[in-house]
Amino acid sequence: MSRCPHCKSIDYRQVGMQNAIERAFRWLLQPCRCDLCGHPFYLFRWQVPAV
Ligand SMILES: [Zn+2]
Repeated sequence: MSRCPHCKSIDYRQVGMQNAIERAFRWLLQPCRCDLCGHPFYLFRWQVPAV
Protein backbone atom coordinates (compact mmCIF):
# COMPACT_ATOMS: atom_id res chain seq x y z
CA MET A 1 0.00 0.00 0.00
CA SER A 2 1.33 3.42 -0.94
CA ARG A 3 1.40 6.08 1.74
CA CYS A 4 1.94 9.79 2.08
CA PRO A 5 5.72 10.26 2.50
CA HIS A 6 5.10 13.10 4.95
CA CYS A 7 2.65 11.69 7.49
CA LYS A 8 2.39 8.04 6.35
CA SER A 9 -1.35 8.36 5.90
CA ILE A 10 -3.01 6.13 3.33
CA ASP A 11 -5.74 8.75 2.98
CA TYR A 12 -4.75 10.55 -0.21
CA ARG A 13 -6.35 11.39 -3.50
CA GLN A 14 -5.09 11.35 -7.03
CA VAL A 15 -5.06 14.79 -8.61
CA GLY A 16 -4.88 16.00 -12.19
CA MET A 17 -1.89 17.11 -14.18
CA GLN A 18 -1.07 20.72 -13.38
CA ASN A 19 1.88 21.68 -15.54
CA ALA A 20 3.94 20.67 -18.55
CA ILE A 21 6.44 18.73 -16.51
CA GLU A 22 3.72 16.60 -14.99
CA ARG A 23 2.14 16.04 -18.38
CA ALA A 24 5.52 15.03 -19.80
CA PHE A 25 5.79 12.34 -17.13
CA ARG A 26 2.18 11.28 -16.99
CA TRP A 27 3.13 7.89 -18.41
CA LEU A 28 5.35 7.42 -15.37
CA LEU A 29 4.04 9.49 -12.47
CA GLN A 30 0.66 10.06 -10.89
CA PRO A 31 0.39 13.28 -8.85
CA CYS A 32 -1.39 12.80 -5.54
CA ARG A 33 -2.26 14.96 -2.55
CA CYS A 34 -2.59 13.77 1.00
CA ASP A 35 -6.04 14.35 2.45
CA LEU A 36 -4.69 14.39 5.97
CA CYS A 37 -1.77 16.83 5.80
CA GLY A 38 -2.20 18.27 2.31
CA HIS A 39 1.30 17.23 1.25
CA PRO A 40 1.59 16.82 -2.52
CA PHE A 41 3.60 13.88 -3.79
CA TYR A 42 4.00 11.58 -6.75
CA LEU A 43 3.40 7.91 -7.11
CA PHE A 44 4.87 5.82 -9.85
CA ARG A 45 2.22 4.38 -12.07
CA TRP A 46 2.86 0.87 -10.85
CA GLN A 47 2.33 2.02 -7.23
CA VAL A 48 -1.10 3.50 -7.87
CA PRO A 49 -3.82 1.18 -6.61
CA ALA A 50 -6.23 0.03 -9.27
CA VAL A 51 -9.63 1.63 -9.07
ZN1 LIG B 1 0.17 13.31 4.59
